[in-house]
Amino acid sequence: MQFEWHTAGPDQVLEGLDSSAHGLNAREVEKRRGEHGANCLTPPQKQHAFVRFLSQFNNILIYVLIVAGAVTAALNHWVDAWVIFGVVVLNALIGYIQEGKAEKAMDALKGMLSPQALVRRDGRTGQINAETLVPGDIVLLQSGDKVPADLRLLNVKDLKVDESILTGESVPVEKTMDPVQPDAPLGDRYCMAFSGTLVTYGKAEGVVCAIGDRTEIGRISSMLAKVQTLQTPLLRRVEEFGRTLTFLIVALSVFLFMFGFFFRGYGALEMFNATVGLAVAAIPEGLPAIMTITLAIGVQAMARRRSIIRRLPAVETLGSVSVICSDKTGTLTRNEMTVRSVSVNEKDFQVTGSGYDPHGAFILGEQEVDLAEHPDVRLLGHIALLCNDAELENKDGAWVLSGDPTEGALAALGMKAGYDAVAVREEWPRIDLIPFESEHRFMATLHHNHTGKAFFYLKGAPEAVFDRCSSVHSGEQELSFDRDIWENRARDMAGRGERVLAVACKRVTMEHTALRFSDVEGGLTLIGIIGMIDPPREEAVEAVARCQAAGIRVKMITGDHVDTARAIGKMTGIGEGRQALTGQEIEVMDDAELMRRVDEVDVFARSSPGHKLRLVKALQASGNVVAMTGDGVNDAPALKRADVGIAMGLKGTEVSKEAAEMVLTDDNFATIANAVEQGRTVYDNLKKSILFVLPTNGGEALSILFAVMLGSTLPITAVQILWVNMVTAVTLALTLAFEEAESNVMQRKPRKQTEPLLSRFIVWRIMYVSLILVTGTFGLFLWYEEMGYPHETARTVAVNTLVLFEIFYLFSARFFVRSAFSINGLLGNRYVLYASALLVLLQVLFTYVPFMQRIFDTTPLELDQWLVILVVSSTVLFFVEVEKFVRRRFFGGEEHMS
Ligand code: ATP
Repeated sequence: MQFEWHTAGPDQVLEGLDSSAHGLNAREVEKRRGEHGANCLTPPQKQHAFVRFLSQFNNILIYVLIVAGAVTAALNHWVDAWVIFGVVVLNALIGYIQEGKAEKAMDALKGMLSPQALVRRDGRTGQINAETLVPGDIVLLQSGDKVPADLRLLNVKDLKVDESILTGESVPVEKTMDPVQPDAPLGDRYCMAFSGTLVTYGKAEGVVCAIGDRTEIGRISSMLAKVQTLQTPLLRRVEEFGRTLTFLIVALSVFLFMFGFFFRGYGALEMFNATVGLAVAAIPEGLPAIMTITLAIGVQAMARRRSIIRRLPAVETLGSVSVICSDKTGTLTRNEMTVRSVSVNEKDFQVTGSGYDPHGAFILGEQEVDLAEHPDVRLLGHIALLCNDAELENKDGAWVLSGDPTEGALAALGMKAGYDAVAVREEWPRIDLIPFESEHRFMATLHHNHTGKAFFYLKGAPEAVFDRCSSVHSGEQELSFDRDIWENRARDMAGRGERVLAVACKRVTMEHTALRFSDVEGGLTLIGIIGMIDPPREEAVEAVARCQAAGIRVKMITGDHVDTARAIGKMTGIGEGRQALTGQEIEVMDDAELMRRVDEVDVFARSSPGHKLRLVKALQASGNVVAMTGDGVNDAPALKRADVGIAMGLKGTEVSKEAAEMVLTDDNFATIANAVEQGRTVYDNLKKSILFVLPTNGGEALSILFAVMLGSTLPITAVQILWVNMVTAVTLALTLAFEEAESNVMQRKPRKQTEPLLSRFIVWRIMYVSLILVTGTFGLFLWYEEMGYPHETARTVAVNTLVLFEIFYLFSARFFVRSAFSINGLLGNRYVLYASALLVLLQVLFTYVPFMQRIFDTTPLELDQWLVILVVSSTVLFFVEVEKFVRRRFFGGEEHMS
């Protein structure tokens, strides 16, 4: 029988799991991993390969082809029928392979976001991949974490967990350590934290009692397994378009049949052939597969540039983003904090040193000082070190931080002030704490030393700390606290772009063994304030400028002081010369006023996650498409609400990642700009493949239509059409998926979300190129017929003309309106060159190999015929380039593409 962990006390559970609060040692971990395996859920069973293959046929375009094939077979045209069926199967095969590739790409992305867990092993705490957890491991939880396995809680500090994934209950559950009844339902097992649930508040420690499939979530995981669908709004629109097109084609075919039969005197048999030809000509059967693979290639390219797409539609939305709201710390700045200045009663010191290296001096005026003469600064350093969770470690000469950078800077300060971190923490053990949260902006700890002294220590944003102070520490005395003076000093620091923290304390008796909010409401003594710098990332400054050139407004939303925010804004080019708003000001505005103001303000300071949500809503209400970054658990609602929620891969909580559409693996603003560029490129490439594929179908369909209208022989047969569609789809059209961004992609305004897929520009270009193609193809066919060549030769000329048209058009199709006549234009995409060469080879086989001649009714061509074909087909390049020139010259180029 399985041990009922929730019914036992912590010690009993630890004993049962043969573990201790110290954690397991490496050997034990290794052994248990061998016994229990990895902490991951067995992936859901994929559809059987054959079923997936069959599903490729479930497409209205393919149905029409199958009917066409059946009609052809019924007419005893077996070769044609086999070619049609062959194409149907080949198409399904290509779709199947490409879909598989695209799915693999998505799976790989999922793997890149594997969750982490904070564990204690052998007394040391560190992050590990959650998959490597074993039963008996001690896991530390904090707000924003996703619980990595089923845990029996050993130690709980205000822990609240959202268990809706398991119980459906959306209100977070408060956890305790007390055992519960054996038959308590999951939702009432307050001493357990279940894998997959989300910590929304507080901290805790627990011991792993079940992993992988043996967790509660594992038992029901098959119900939850979500298969990533490769569908996005754009692809859905393409599919809809495909359906509409099919109906049109069927209607047109019926019309054609009637027309030919009744008005042109064709026989029924001949008209069947023509109708089948029309249907297969007009159907862009390769298009859906091309679009899917283009999207997948785009998503892979994004992952290489450090942005991982969690929900595919975000790729398209990225291209129409008009506002990016970014956090400051770590995204626009490096998140490498170093204390630069310290102010204690009436004295301002500069602090030297770099990074987290705890070596540096204190300068007063121009002089380095001995801190023995400045006990206030020593005390500041002492508290900075104790009211702190960060650890600095010297690894091979470099100082490495584990923990929060703000706290890392404070720890380095404490060490510069002459303290040994380990010794101080041993001498002043921490009895309790109130953890830092962006909402209240401070952290407080309670310490007892071994000589019977007890203190509350508090550090946080100056306003939060000043609110609680009634005196100031100065040497041995306590003076009254003059808030104005201290606010001015804090403002001076913030004006230099420094993040400011104030430090305070309160002496209490040893009877105090718990720390509550009410304990630090007031009566504290201010020790001093500390200013730390966090330089902007150079690449972020450049990326902000790039976004602004692309018509995207960049807004900074930060918890920092308004002056710090403004100063950093100035360094990064955000909101210069404009007003800034603070959280307090937002609070007193109603939604209508916020909506009015939100456009003119770029810097939002002292804002908390709740404000982010209101800002997103206000920006959306004024017609913006909003990308919003976030990392904390409370950012999740804003991330969900934003059009593109962006979570931080490094410092972001699991909760924020779950809510986001996209995750940055380097937390860098420049990566967002790159993702926008990539998103625009992917959308462009999807449009380019439509622009490329549809004129082929248009040209072919028109050839048949005109032929019937004019009462001429068909210039190209159904099987030849299928050949052309197939070979061009697998060679030429796919190359556009690899097309790099156009050089002006970040100089265009964001795409309007309402812009239709088939914009006027696209429809026009499709018609224009279709007409060029039909004129050349049909024209040459008629000319050769006129000269008395057999139908077969005239058709071979027509087919080769069509294919070469495609090759030439591809060079043009790489750019919407920019000229293709440049080195990059002609040679820039090597896939275009490979595919063209391959296609030429295929056409040679098509024309000269006897077996092909039999299937496709082709005849060999002479050199002069090839020259004619070459001259005629190359005209498409010139005609389209002339059209582009006119568009650039007289119609404002891409500005008027829609
Ligand atoms: P950004 O939006 O720029 O990334 P943020 O929203 O993360 O910044 P917070 O971390 O909420 O900003 O910090 C807000 C303020 O709280 C800081 O200006 C600082 O004064 C204070 N603060 C930050 N970290 C801590 C901490 N660990 N302990 C106490 N106070 C802190």
